[in-house]
Amino acid sequence: MSAIPSTASRADLPTVKLLIDGEFVESQSTEWRDIVNPATQDVLARVPFATAAEVDAAIRAAHAAFAGWKNTPLGTRVRIMLKFQALIREHMPRIAKTLTAEQGKTLPDAEGDIFRGLEVVEHACSIGTLQQGEFLENVAGAVDTYTLRQPLGVCAGVTPFNFPAMIPLWMFPMAIVCGNTFVLKPSEQDPLSTMQLVELALEAGIPKGVLNVVHGGKDVVDALCTHEHVKAISFVGSTAVGTHVYRLGSEHGKRVQSMMGAKNHAVVLPDANREQTLNALVGAGFGAAGQRCMATSVVVLVGASQQWLPELIEKAKTLKVNAGHEPKTDVGPVVSRVAKQRILGLIDAGVKEGATLALDGRHVKVPGYEDGNFIGPTVFTDVSTEMQVYKTEIFGPVLCVIAVPTLDDAIALVNRNPMGNGVGLFTQSGAAARKFQSEIDIGQVGINIPIPVPVPYFSFTGSRGSKLGDLGPYGKQVVQFYTQTKTVTARWFDDATVNDGVNTTISLR
Ligand code: NAD
Repeated sequence: MSAIPSTASRADLPTVKLLIDGEFVESQSTEWRDIVNPATQDVLARVPFATAAEVDAAIRAAHAAFAGWKNTPLGTRVRIMLKFQALIREHMPRIAKTLTAEQGKTLPDAEGDIFRGLEVVEHACSIGTLQQGEFLENVAGAVDTYTLRQPLGVCAGVTPFNFPAMIPLWMFPMAIVCGNTFVLKPSEQDPLSTMQLVELALEAGIPKGVLNVVHGGKDVVDALCTHEHVKAISFVGSTAVGTHVYRLGSEHGKRVQSMMGAKNHAVVLPDANREQTLNALVGAGFGAAGQRCMATSVVVLVGASQQWLPELIEKAKTLKVNAGHEPKTDVGPVVSRVAKQRILGLIDAGVKEGATLALDGRHVKVPGYEDGNFIGPTVFTDVSTEMQVYKTEIFGPVLCVIAVPTLDDAIALVNRNPMGNGVGLFTQSGAAARKFQSEIDIGQVGINIPIPVPVPYFSFTGSRGSKLGDLGPYGKQVVQFYTQTKTVTARWFDDATVNDGVNTTISLR
């Protein structure tokens, strides 16, 4: 996470700009980090770790823009989002190419990353109905009460490396369309595609100061969490950092939502559709090289479905590991050399702890991309819940398989795990599915759906150890998060109103 000083020979590389008060500006920072293509190790650009003064300037620009923006007519705000969604559609292939180059995922998956964010922008166009208040007339004699959903002021967003399009788009469009102004801090590992989206947002008409971007790591994030003008912080990333952001922001009086790490289980009953289930498990376990917060990382085989294990491994072996831009690639590289070393370390730990390495992806070779951060699909069996590979979020293409006798055992196992992001059940039994959805203590449940990330008409509802704060990203919940309720109780007198004297009680008459 720390800045890697760039060498003088890199001075001619493109630099990522800050966005402050409507201008893309070069940072004055002395700390910079290289943005590296994980398939080739080519350095694509350099990103600054913004100075304290630059972060302060971005927040102050957002603060100054708030008064004008919150009073901007709803129709104007919505039409900017309509234009923004059209621009994202138009530029999707270009942004996907950048995203694959800096993050590693396959081109179709990069388009999926942008598309899932685009859906949030589309939903932001419905803010007219989403942000409506309530009205009740005659709550007392000629007294009406109504609520307003008003924006908070400056909101900040801190995003992870694994969805550089979708997750920033979870945040700033909804915050801004509600009438807030925003300071975004993208992942320092892959900010290029995020910045392309930000450029399109300005092209769509977002006025100066309403959207600002700063880059960096801990110091920048801490400054956002503690600045007097920041009212709310949306964080998505690891559990350790999300917990820190939640605490620091809360201590400083901010509203905070932290979406964090995961350990997602898929429970397989023997009556499930075998082919569909195995395809789903392999896709959800190894797609995006396992770097999805909703990736399947533990397969729980119930009863006779344990006999499907050899077929699961055979399917995993057929996946093509290659650079993300190469056609027909299934599994791209992991994001960095550091990430690769961490994942390899966890695989080694699993072997030492006695799990069976049924499929070993450690030594995969990709011709033409010998320097890439590749790890092939890896499967552990005989995993116990005490092992590191079970307890730790691996965030790589590694599946742990656990066998249990009954559905009740599977539910108890999943509920004992502290994480609560997503879970899947594979079955043809409606009764089993109903029991599962009722008894499982995980915020997002898929029934024959391996990655149950809700569409933006709903909200992202990870739970327990995967989330801090009540309200999740996008959907109706995020409108609540990015607004505060004001209740107005009003009585109007006309000249004919009968004077009924002084009322010294609390009751309304
Ligand atoms: P990360 O926590 O390392 O980084 C997230 C953000 O926090 C980045 O912008 C980074 O610059 C900043 N940051 C890093 N260290 C910091 C520190 N010490 N103090 C303050 N800020 C700091 O996460 P990552 O590696 O980029 O992303 C992967 C993680 O994100 C995984 O754990 C994954 O499960 C999680 N994730 C969760 C969700 C969800 O919705 N629950 C979605 C996507 C990713």
